[in-house]
Amino acid sequence: MKAEIQPKYFKAAQIKCACGNIIETGSVKEEMKVDTCSNCHPFFTGQKQAVSNQGRAAKFMEKYGKK
Ligand SMILES: [Zn+2]
Repeated sequence: MKAEIQPKYFKAAQIKCACGNIIETGSVKEEMKVDTCSNCHPFFTGQKQAVSNQGRAAKFMEKYGKK
């Protein structure tokens, strides 16, 4: 009998993100690692975007803003 044809499905699979956030989900893999998740992705947090904008604004103010 071929009982192992289908991949095992882990109901409590974990996706581990680089930021340390762990998302529990269903997957054929028991564990996955990702660089970004909904917790730390700039699209959701706006963090990286805000930081880079702040840097640019600060440089701009340094150059042209302060008198
Ligand atoms: Zn993350």
